[in-house]
Amino acid sequence: MPLLMKPLLPLLLLVALLSACAPTRQGSALTDEWIPSPNHGPRRPTMVVLHYTTNNDTETALRTLTHPEREVSAHYLVGRDGRIVQLVDEARRAWHAGASYWQGNQDVNSASIGIELDNNGHEPFPDRQIDALLALLDDLRARYAIAPGQVVGHSDVALGRKVDPGPLFPWRRLAAEGFGQWCDPPYPTPPPGFDLTTGLALLGYDTTDPEAARRAFHLRYLPQHDPLVAAAIETELAHCVALTPGRPDRP
Ligand SMILES: [Zn+2]
Repeated sequence: MPLLMKPLLPLLLLVALLSACAPTRQGSALTDEWIPSPNHGPRRPTMVVLHYTTNNDTETALRTLTHPEREVSAHYLVGRDGRIVQLVDEARRAWHAGASYWQGNQDVNSASIGIELDNNGHEPFPDRQIDALLALLDDLRARYAIAPGQVVGHSDVALGRKVDPGPLFPWRRLAAEGFGQWCDPPYPTPPPGFDLTTGLALLGYDTTDPEAARRAFHLRYLPQHDPLVAAAIETELAHCVALTPGRPDRP
């Protein structure tokens, strides 16, 4: 090293250290120049997808949701005792929905917060767990302005693949707090020409396979009904649900 450089050595080291610590910018390799604008903010999730873990305890669920080889996660896990564990930064894309569709969006993971409820799929959800979920949803809504119809189940967005959070999930209670849509009878008469597939598409379901969308709708809105009774009221119900506030006011 030339003698003249020696006094500059600490400065050079500092510059090298700072550049190593600087956050890497994501962008195109084709960029000619990087002129940063101050006018931006974090990307905002617009949806929440609810799941059940299929596990009998939180520890088992946590092992799965954090194991690198399982390649599955969620932003939050809510235990049966109401304990809320965060697993993924909200600004990051958690891997919870898989191949999915809702209201035209085919990449639900990129648009959503994923919440796992510790539940084996065959048990009622304890009040403490739902109370904690409602508090978490309230917090998310306050920060991201999530519309009621944007709070959905995995079964709504992954037709034919998933059935969680299942027939025991208290959707009616959630809707009373403004999360997810609901409608109680008596249902108004739909306009002429209104059919079930139209209603399901209005809600956000992928109606490419109308029967798969219909099954997901029944699972969420008519889980305890006899299939014949459900079939008799499904169109009126879908119409009624579609009349309730669902989609965001702005894109
Ligand atoms: Zn799921």
